[in-house]
Amino acid sequence: MYNAKAYSAASATSPLASSVIARRDPTDTDVQIEILFCGICHSDLHTVRDEWHSVMPTVYPCVPGHEIVGRVVKVGAKVTKFKAGDLAGVGCLVDSDGTCPECQAGLEQFCGHATFTYNAPDKHTGKVTYGGYSDSVVVDERFVLSVPTNLNLAGAAPLLCAGITTYSPMRHWGAGPGKKVGVVGLGGLGHMGVKFAHALGAHTVVFTTSPNKVEDALRLGADEVVLSKDASQMQKHLGSFDFILDAVSAQHDINAYLMLLKRDGNITLVGAPEQPLPVGAFPLIMGRRSLSGSPIGGIAETQEMLDFCGKHNITSDVEVIPMQKVNEAYSRLLKQDVKYRFSIDMASLRA
Ligand code: NAP
Ligand code: ZN
Repeated sequence: MYNAKAYSAASATSPLASSVIARRDPTDTDVQIEILFCGICHSDLHTVRDEWHSVMPTVYPCVPGHEIVGRVVKVGAKVTKFKAGDLAGVGCLVDSDGTCPECQAGLEQFCGHATFTYNAPDKHTGKVTYGGYSDSVVVDERFVLSVPTNLNLAGAAPLLCAGITTYSPMRHWGAGPGKKVGVVGLGGLGHMGVKFAHALGAHTVVFTTSPNKVEDALRLGADEVVLSKDASQMQKHLGSFDFILDAVSAQHDINAYLMLLKRDGNITLVGAPEQPLPVGAFPLIMGRRSLSGSPIGGIAETQEMLDFCGKHNITSDVEVIPMQKVNEAYSRLLKQDVKYRFSIDMASLRA
């Protein structure tokens, strides 16, 4: 074991603070990564504040962070994919059983034994996994991604969660030419959804509650922007969408969006608000519409997404912050005051 610097929360109500955590020394199949940037996902905030208590209670101290980009410093004897000096990425998963039908299909996110990057039982230490708000991390090479070298690293970090979480359902539901695709909530996930829907060739419509984001939405690739609190603007789009991605972090009326779908249209929730969202039967029944959800993506698809981003030069729009500003960043995230992802420069933790 060795000591790593980190920022952790001691309870649901305490701010994140500087701490030292124990990391395992790399085993034969492990990659040790010096973390350069880590994005701040709203899931980090939900977890730190134990907002998902009923589904995944938080174990403290909690070190969040699952949008990790860094440089390989050491590899185990049996590692074949990476060598010291390579760029590497780690997302929301660090382990799975590798043998179940989901893993065999490359869908590790659905493995019953998948291990999340933080706040999950750690088979190596017997404690809990610690995430990327840290100067280093040790991960089995199966869960380490190659990061295209042409990408800006601060902007590449959020691809590891916000990127794959929006890319995967867009691909699954066939976003592309001739399709009308909506993205609800222009936050960290939503702005990546807009970039992907646009790059995949769909007619892309953003729904936002924030009038000050309209220009940005168009710049990010939206063909149209709807202020969702304006009923007349919503009305114009009734029954017209093939697919809508809902990336909202808080309570909102999902029925209003169901009504915008065509026959057989789908709305997929990637946003994970604390409380259940009431769904009316009629918006689903009329039009045989469907409502589904989607968690992150498998490792192979995450690599496909990163390669797609390398080819199309897609990164997240980030505001780079030092680790010491993380609590301020959380407050701003709750006020929808981020354009469009905070990315922590880990040099600030080493200084
Ligand atoms: P974020 O950056 O905070 O963005 C959330 C956006 O939702 C805001 O920018 C805002 O967009 C909209 N919003 C916030 N409060 C709202 C309200 N009261 N009513 C209507 N709209 C509101 O968060 P994020 O990091 O993108 O994460 C979004 C959600 O996805 C979180 O719940 C997170 O936990 C979840 N998530 C899920 C997965 C998965 O695998 N499914 C992965 C990562 C994250 P506008 O200002 O444009 O209205
Ligand atoms: Zn995330």
